[in-house]
Amino acid sequence: MPPPFQLLASHPALDFVNTLDNRFVDSGPSELLPRYADLLAFVEQTALVSTRAVNGLTDRADSPRARKVLAQAHTLREALAAVVYASAATADSMSVLETACKAAQQHQELEWKRNGTTDGSAWQAGWKWGRSETELELPVWALAKSAMELLTSPVVQHVRTCKSDTCRWVFLDTSKNHSRRWCDMKICGNRMKARRFQARQ
Ligand SMILES: [Zn+2]
Repeated sequence: MPPPFQLLASHPALDFVNTLDNRFVDSGPSELLPRYADLLAFVEQTALVSTRAVNGLTDRADSPRARKVLAQAHTLREALAAVVYASAATADSMSVLETACKAAQQHQELEWKRNGTTDGSAWQAGWKWGRSETELELPVWALAKSAMELLTSPVVQHVRTCKSDTCRWVFLDTSKNHSRRWCDMKICGNRMKARRFQARQ
């Protein structure tokens, strides 16, 4: 089985925005995360949540609480979409992001590790989900954390929208001269090239 999601955005938070597909098409949009199980598959494929934690949550994927969390995920995604498609940003979308990010921070724990065995070695700390790994909200917290890492980083200025009018997926332009125009050259780039070729005929 091929992995379920096309991850073309070069950042998991932007791949998340693209899970509402055909966002700007008259016949759209198409929801790529219709069930909590799809949300789990997404955070696993993007490596935002470990396979072990995902497996632990799968049993409860059809519970009423899982459906509530799925709705939270959709709300978070649309708030993030409003901010990355900058013209749609509102105070509401920013406040949704801030609240989700604070919740994510609250559910992390510091894990301490001591590197090496010599006297001079310091303890090293890292944020882990710890006890929160068994909470159904984990995918939403992980996505909020990823979104905040993007939005608070200077690389956010390189967020771009695919130049295909029917696509408009968002991606992070990591190319050297920041000239990437398509979410995927093979999909959208070629389609546009073919269209231009036909127009010339
Ligand atoms: Zn595209």
